[in-house]
Amino acid sequence: MMHLGVPDAGPAPLSLAAAVTRPTAQQPDWPDLPRVRAVRELLRTAPPLVLPAEADRLTARLAAVARGEAFLLQGGDCAETFAGNTESHLCANLDLLARMAVVLARAGGLPVVRLARMAGQYAKPRSATTDGHGLPVYRGDMVNGLGATPAERTPDPDRMLRAYAASALAMKVVRARTGGEVFTGHEALVLDYERALLRPGPCVNHRPYSGSGHFLWIGERTRRLGGAHIGFAELLANPVGVKLGPETTPEEAVEYVRRLDPDMVPGRLTLVSRMGHRRVREVLPPIVEKVTASGHQVVWQCDPMHGNTFVAPTGHKTRRVEHMLDELAGFFEVHRRLGTRPGGVHLELTGDDVTECLGAGISEKDLPHRYRTACDPRLNARQATAVTTALADLLRLPVTRCPNNRPRPRAS
Ligand code: PEP
Ligand code: MN
Repeated sequence: MMHLGVPDAGPAPLSLAAAVTRPTAQQPDWPDLPRVRAVRELLRTAPPLVLPAEADRLTARLAAVARGEAFLLQGGDCAETFAGNTESHLCANLDLLARMAVVLARAGGLPVVRLARMAGQYAKPRSATTDGHGLPVYRGDMVNGLGATPAERTPDPDRMLRAYAASALAMKVVRARTGGEVFTGHEALVLDYERALLRPGPCVNHRPYSGSGHFLWIGERTRRLGGAHIGFAELLANPVGVKLGPETTPEEAVEYVRRLDPDMVPGRLTLVSRMGHRRVREVLPPIVEKVTASGHQVVWQCDPMHGNTFVAPTGHKTRRVEHMLDELAGFFEVHRRLGTRPGGVHLELTGDDVTECLGAGISEKDLPHRYRTACDPRLNARQATAVTTALADLLRLPVTRCPNNRPRPRAS
């Protein structure tokens, strides 16, 4: 559904005003617009959850990824929930990421940049506006409740305040648990929230920074070039990502690169391919070739989750580990053939013992046992370990460029 965002009560900087007049997909149908404005005012004066210097530090780390000197591991829940924002859940996810990073660092001989889908991943894009009961769909705890009642599903602007508070608490856990070594990121979706958390940078005339997370990405459903989300990402000083589904054209990809990395800063832009295991080998190469020819140094990241989702006979949305491994292998094959860097992965996972994806000990009959996700199916620790082992094997196949531009295995 397309409609305009809620206009500001007061004057906004020109660029923001321009951004809000663009078509804005996937926004909540807030019933109480005066309350939306009041909440935005509260968020506008609240302390940022992350600082500009931290976002700059992440850009520098992502520049190393773009140069092939580090590997990016991003992961966490598809949808965080207020009820799930507990120390044990946050630590289970952070600890799983830490264990995976150790294996990948050893296999690749490179530092691993850890980026948690955490402390802000509270809004979800949806393909339908109503569910099977005719109720408005669940759009993430920042917007409405998962319970199938009209009251729960009515978008409530006060939930943006709860998302901010929950994210602040999660940030405390992230900082305490990891000594500041883990960055946080989420999909920039609800623009009432994201715009209210923009903060000026340290330099006059510098772009504003997002105070809501170190890294923000634009999802497959909101990446329209003329849309407000890409316009919003353009404004930011933070490193940003764009998900690229199987219908992405090379021309579109190069336009994202021009628009989102106008100053040609390595690490500023991460292109996240999520094409599905059947399409990646065909769709990704011309995109990589055209972007490489543009001269911009982006991070190439593979999300092997979102192009491989299907509904099991039990009615559960699920994914097969085997398909994820095939998409990851295809992603590495494409980059190795073209002489570009397979820079990182983006996974939905949890350290909790869930039964949401198939493979590594979980079959269709197990899905109903501990299917706990509020949105998409996540890897459990055992499945994430299987993916990590396969990734480690892919990283252990180093290549050097040959004079004829064909990669060949490096002699061991
Ligand atoms: C997600 O990352 O949860 C998501 C919705 O992904 P995509 O935009 O790639 O579908
Ligand atoms: Mn998801």
